[in-house]
Amino acid sequence: TTLFRSQKSRYITRCTPAIPLISRTLYTGKFIMMTEVEKAQNAKFNKNEKTIFDKIIEKQIPADIIYEDDQCLAFTDVNPQAPTHFLVIPKKRIPLLDASEEADKDLLGTLMLTAKKLANERLPNGYRLVINNGVDGCQSVYHLHIHILGGRQMKWPPG
Ligand code: AMP
Repeated sequence: TTLFRSQKSRYITRCTPAIPLISRTLYTGKFIMMTEVEKAQNAKFNKNEKTIFDKIIEKQIPADIIYEDDQCLAFTDVNPQAPTHFLVIPKKRIPLLDASEEADKDLLGTLMLTAKKLANERLPNGYRLVINNGVDGCQSVYHLHIHILGGRQMKWPPG
């Protein structure tokens, strides 16, 4: 029965990406832990839709905010991939790097300089910046963000 249930849940996860995770969870009676790749493959991209990061900007949901100004916000990643892992995001809703425009040039520079400043304060031995773009880039939240990772030796090539 256990095997059948897990096979059934895998089948449902693979074949019905449009069904929200919570419905699948209720239907299968099993909590499904998605990997970051699965989250990216299931993430829906609607350029007009608010994301969880809008809710963090608007303080509708809590986050461990480490920096804020009128243009950007930085907070700890809820699922850290390194001892130090935080995100710097623009308050302006830009879904992904591909959607940025010439007019965003100053904002993109500000995000990079903010990431550098916060990283310098926390990660004197070095760090890595990552921007995931689109499905193949493993983007799961469609609000532009820079990952800042450090506190351990990073590897190359990345996965
Ligand atoms: P990406 O896969 O590049 O789109 O990265 C999205 C990141 O947002 C992931 O590393 C998640 O762990 C992180 N994340 C998602 N929801 C939250 C949240 N509520 N608070 C902090 N980080 C989050």
